[in-house]
Amino acid sequence: MPLQAKPQTRAERTAYAETSRYDDVITFLEALKLPIIWMATSDQGRKVPLVTIGKGKLKVYVQANIHAGEVEGKEAALMLLRDLPSTHPKLLEKLTLFVCPIYNCDGNEKWGDGKRNRGSQDGPDVIGERANGAGLDINRDCMKAESPEMRGVLENIYLKHDPALVLDLHTTNGTRHGFHLTYSPPLSPNTDPDVLTYVRDTLLPTVRKKLDKDKAWKLFDYGNTERRGTERVWATFGEEPRYVTNYAGLRGRLAVLSEAASFLPFETRVKVTYDFVLAVLEEAAKDSTKIQKLVKDADKRRRSELGVRFEMAPRGTETIPLEKTRPESEIDHRKAPTEFEQVTLPIWDRFKPIQSRPVPKAYLVHDDSVIALLQRHGIQMKNLATPYTRAVQAFVVRQKSVGRVAFQGHKLVQVEGEWVAPTTGNIGGWIVPTDQPRQALLFHLLEPESLDGLVAWGLTEVEPQIMIFRLP
Ligand SMILES: [Zn+2]
Repeated sequence: MPLQAKPQTRAERTAYAETSRYDDVITFLEALKLPIIWMATSDQGRKVPLVTIGKGKLKVYVQANIHAGEVEGKEAALMLLRDLPSTHPKLLEKLTLFVCPIYNCDGNEKWGDGKRNRGSQDGPDVIGERANGAGLDINRDCMKAESPEMRGVLENIYLKHDPALVLDLHTTNGTRHGFHLTYSPPLSPNTDPDVLTYVRDTLLPTVRKKLDKDKAWKLFDYGNTERRGTERVWATFGEEPRYVTNYAGLRGRLAVLSEAASFLPFETRVKVTYDFVLAVLEEAAKDSTKIQKLVKDADKRRRSELGVRFEMAPRGTETIPLEKTRPESEIDHRKAPTEFEQVTLPIWDRFKPIQSRPVPKAYLVHDDSVIALLQRHGIQMKNLATPYTRAVQAFVVRQKSVGRVAFQGHKLVQVEGEWVAPTTGNIGGWIVPTDQPRQALLFHLLEPESLDGLVAWGLTEVEPQIMIFRLP
């Protein structure tokens, strides 16, 4: 009897002229006969698939298509799910993979002209859009967790399986350089220091060298050229945990952002993303014992202070292949650069805290919507049976600014001030101790001066009504 032919992705079937639609993804996954759960229902009613493969101790979550015009992660994830059982059976003994190839289903189905949806991307001609069904950029939603996609992944991945490593797959259309793919570790300085150091200084440089040697792929830290003062630098993106990989890092987990270069042909982008994900998985499998210890130790780490304001920082200078300068009118942004110049630039690939605050013993919260959000993130807390009557501190606002235009549907709030003591408490609600594994995350959510917490997103307030107190 002939072996049943393995399913082909829509990209493969069309010689990379087209990318998979939602129905193509589901049909492909069903043909693989892997266990599928539906981890969310999108705003427009589509069920978001999550597939599990492997039976190893180390749990890894691979997420693609959060920005649905950035399509190579989706195709590479499907191909890996199909190929790994025959090409890398040993890897699947070391790892359990949870794969969501089409996180933003609604965005994927906002089918339109690639020239409009992704102006500087070399194919396919028709693709989806960046935003989800409600028009949100869900790679900004990790802290406020408003989208069904984020709520679903919190419940079905972060809380249920607590993966040690998270990969988030994208395409970048920034600076025109000589790299096939750029990557990033978690960027928040509040990330567990050992987790951050391992991803940034061991895992990613190892993968970079290996893929250069084995496949001639050129990889580098994610960045774009920009001016800082009088200097031209290579600078990364933001440290805020609203981004997926920064969020996973703040939970004390390893995370890797993958950004294939949009000016490369679609097929090349699928291939480099495929090879990159596979190389990260192989490296993680090799270091499985070490990684399991890293995340266990991260859960035990308690810090006396954490940052609330940060500044980008350099690691030194390196030489980067940039497209040779030529008139803008001569550049076709949908095609790869062909001539390069080697430019030595300071590499700003990290952040440092410039203002920190002590971590209190606990926060007291009497705002039910705050509590609901903390519970979604898996923060531990206790309901106060009787109001808390001992002295607590309240936050006094010295300075407050509110964004003039909405960002992701919110006018961002920035406050500065002091915790003042003592206020005699008579406070009902919940006590949230900081002596718990998600310490850095709950601090980032609850500390009023945090730029990506509940106050910042306007989801609670510190004046005129005080909803959060603390026990120093
Ligand atoms: Zn993206």
